[in-house]
Amino acid sequence: MCLVEIEGLPKLELACSTQVRDGMKVSTKSEAVVEARNGVLEFLLAEHPLDCPICDKAGECKLQDYYEQYGFFESQYKETKEKREKKAEIGKNLIHDKERCVLCTRCVRFLREVTKTQELGVFNRGLHSEVDIYNGEPIDNNYSGNLAEICPVGAITDSDFRFKTRSWFLKNGESVCPLCSRGCNIIIEYHPGFARFPVPKRVYRIKARENQDVNGFWICDLGRYGYSYLNEDRADEILTNNQQKTGSPSWEEARSLIVQKIKSPPYKTIGSRMALILHSWLSNEEFFLIRKIFQDDLGVEKIFFADPPEGEKDDHLLTSERCPNRRGAQEVGFDFKPFDLSALDEDVCSLVVFGNFLSDQFSQAESGARLEKIGTKVLFTSYKNEWNSLFDIVIPTAMIAEKEGSLTNLDGKVQDFQAVLEPLGASLPEWKALVDLAKELKINFDYYRRLYSVEAISNGLRKEIPFFGKKSD
Ligand code: SF4
Ligand code: SF4
Repeated sequence: MCLVEIEGLPKLELACSTQVRDGMKVSTKSEAVVEARNGVLEFLLAEHPLDCPICDKAGECKLQDYYEQYGFFESQYKETKEKREKKAEIGKNLIHDKERCVLCTRCVRFLREVTKTQELGVFNRGLHSEVDIYNGEPIDNNYSGNLAEICPVGAITDSDFRFKTRSWFLKNGESVCPLCSRGCNIIIEYHPGFARFPVPKRVYRIKARENQDVNGFWICDLGRYGYSYLNEDRADEILTNNQQKTGSPSWEEARSLIVQKIKSPPYKTIGSRMALILHSWLSNEEFFLIRKIFQDDLGVEKIFFADPPEGEKDDHLLTSERCPNRRGAQEVGFDFKPFDLSALDEDVCSLVVFGNFLSDQFSQAESGARLEKIGTKVLFTSYKNEWNSLFDIVIPTAMIAEKEGSLTNLDGKVQDFQAVLEPLGASLPEWKALVDLAKELKINFDYYRRLYSVEAISNGLRKEIPFFGKKSD
């Protein structure tokens, strides 16, 4: 399909394997080129099944695109099409339809050159050539999902996506994967919904986005299939422990309640009697605000981190840190102290917690006994969890795909991310909640009043901390 006409050469040439020379004159759309591509396409489609209406690749298939560009011909093929195996499971998330394969060998080369695991090969000869796994051994590596993405037709499809929706219903946006500290660049595909009936989920697919400095063209299977964090068990309303009497409060009401509670005991002692538990899913800008408000202005010393436990890593992209911004926290100036319940000693009378990873580390009974003795407990979380009932005020927060900011990956690369999705219900980005709280606390009001956007916070961050001044995205 990449045949081109080069002035001075007698035949059409393959563009992909011809070296460019000075003064070379190439025609990509001449009559001869279009006719040749039409012929090649006819061969490609000769054995191709006519199952576009039920194929998951429909709408994003290269063969469909080429047919629209070069095709619209009557089939001259009168013979019966070759029947091949359909719906063969070739890996944990991969279904192979051998009839649809155009034998481009992208999948074989990916497993040979990128993962170096070589689970696929081309078997047999001529008309009977087909791609298959060896001796029924399934494809089992951390990057197998990339095969469904690089297959140009619907021969390798993703069982996670098969028959769930049609690609043309989906919208997409660019983001950064938060599931480990590599910070791979991703595309989030989501369903905006229909006017008349609800759709079963919001996010349907995560794809790799090219960034040669971070992830090349690829993402791992955890980043690709682990997107349930955007869809499931999400907190979407503000909760307080006298809610049954008053109903769910607005953010304005909740924030004045928080300030009122943390201001008694008297203002000057807030720092010494408060503890803060953070997690490394917060953005650089949010860490900067937390440092300014709680550490610099209020003088809080008891600042701890509760992150998800470390996981498997590999030699390619996946790292063991299951959070995207531990490096950012360190560069902003936090000493990374892991949290232990014993840190909540008798002096602590107000506790502000970001995230709910503590619930993975301590049982509700264990933490409940300790938290009971603390007068004011505020939780900022994106998830509904039984553990949330231990807090006086629970504020739902936006996830990384629902807000703006930047993250610093383990190699120190600072990458911006944008809001792809709307925050759910009453949830709001932590940066906004922090600026509002600082203004309500009336500490350094003139400074915080100017931080009305992530850009304004980011400018402050870059001015104050030289590491972020050399920010690159
Ligand atoms: S990438 Fe798809 S079309 Fe190409 S050889 Fe593999 S299965 Fe066939
Ligand atoms: S390597 Fe890490 S950042 Fe990249 S896709 Fe996988 S989990 Fe996400």
